Amino acid sequence: MQNVIGGIEFGFSTTLSNWQEGDHSSNGFTATFRAATNSNANEVSDAPAFGNACTLSGHVLVLNQDYQALAVTSVQRATVLVLLQKADLVESDEHRFIRSATIRLPWPSIVRLRIYVRIPYKRIMLTRKNVMRRDGGKCQYCGNSDRLTIDHIRAKSRGGKDTWENLVAACVPCNNKKGNMSLQQAGMKLCRKPFRPSYVMYIRDFVGSLDDAWKPYLFLS
Ligand SMILES: [Zn+2]
Repeated sequence: MQNVIGGIEFGFSTTLSNWQEGDHSSNGFTATFRAATNSNANEVSDAPAFGNACTLSGHVLVLNQDYQALAVTSVQRATVLVLLQKADLVESDEHRFIRSATIRLPWPSIVRLRIYVRIPYKRIMLTRKNVMRRDGGKCQYCGNSDRLTIDHIRAKSRGGKDTWENLVAACVPCNNKKGNMSLQQAGMKLCRKPFRPSYVMYIRDFVGSLDDAWKPYLFLS
C-alpha cells in the first residue's frame, strides 16, 4: 500500500485510519473520531471543530506505547485521540490552549498511544523522489543542484542494483562523465556514502523546524 505524506512516499500507511481498534463507539466522539482519522494526515478540513474561534495549525508527534516516534499528526487529531483516551498527553505547549465556549484543553505537542501499534514494515519506499530528498537535491559528486538525474554507482550494465546504497542524485555532467565506469575508473568521489533513510529522518524532514520537546524522542535511535 502506497501512501504519500509530506512529500515522502511510504510503502505503508501512517495515517491514523489504520490505528482504529477496540471500542470507541459509546462515547459520543465516534463520528468525530472517524471524520478525524479517515483521511490523509495532511488534511485538516474534516477535523473536529472545537469552536470556530481558533485555528489549530501545528504538528503533534505521536509516540507508540513504547515511546518510539511513530507519526506526525495534526493538533486536532491528537486532541481527539486524547479525548478518546486512545492516547495520553506527554508534552503540551504551555502558552497555547484549545478553546471553545465551554472547554479549554491543553495544546498537544507530543502524545503517546495507550495501545502498542505494530507496523511490521516501516520503510521508506525507494523512489526517485525519495533519493533526491535523501541527497538534499544536490549532486553527490559535485554538489550542484541543477539538472539532476539518478545515477547508479555501479552501473546497471555491470550488475548494479536499484538499492538505496547504489543510487545517488547526480547532475547531468557528472552522470555523463562517469558513464558506465566504476568510481575508481572515473576518478570520481561521492560526497557521502549513500544510505537507507530512517523513519526519524522522514519525520525531521516532514516537520522542517523541530519542536525542542520532540528531540529526545527523535534522536533516541
Ligand atoms: Zn555533479
